[in-house]
Amino acid sequence: MNSASPLVTNAYIGLGSNLDSPIEQIKSARLAIKSLADVEELSFSNLYASTPMGPQDQPDYVNAVMGIATRLSPLDLLHTLQAIEQAHGRVRGNQRWGARTLDLDLLLYGDEQIACPELTVPHVGIAERAFVLYPLSDCVQDLFIPGKGNITDLLAQCQLSGLRRLNEHESA
Ligand code: ATP
Ligand code: MG
Ligand code: MG
Repeated sequence: MNSASPLVTNAYIGLGSNLDSPIEQIKSARLAIKSLADVEELSFSNLYASTPMGPQDQPDYVNAVMGIATRLSPLDLLHTLQAIEQAHGRVRGNQRWGARTLDLDLLLYGDEQIACPELTVPHVGIAERAFVLYPLSDCVQDLFIPGKGNITDLLAQCQLSGLRRLNEHESA
């Protein structure tokens, strides 16, 4: 059972998909997250296309970032996001960074730094991945990422690496 706290925390979730109609997967995941009890949507980025990070023999990804206010604890939020991945047909294979219908990563949880076997926050890739930093910067203009630095500085050092913002027509 989820243990909701009276304290509300702002958190950011990275969404990614490259299988089975990725744009629809991202939109459906957004709806699922905003429909959760103890979660309120605060922001949602543009959609982006990105080239795969791991094995190259897989389709390009669609990525986005969602900002929420939540009463869920970090671990309850992680487990809830994993249940939404499962409901969207996520299959965990042996291959690291392999193709997937839906990936939901907890990027930030307030200004907390968490290091436990199941959960690392800020997310491990947050400071280097263009497909995280650019959509994150759509959601929030000024942000200090604990242990990493200011988002503006991180963006200035980040290669685009094939990232492309989808236009209105493509995102519809
Ligand atoms: P990456 O984490 O490098 O983006 P990935 O998203 O493909 O890779 P997954 O297979 O989705 O990795 O998750 C692997 C494990 O990562 C999960 O079992 C989960 O417990 C752990 N994990 C640690 N920190 C986080 C986090 N901040 N958000 C989501 N999962 C996390
Ligand atoms: Mg991921
Ligand atoms: Mg993941």
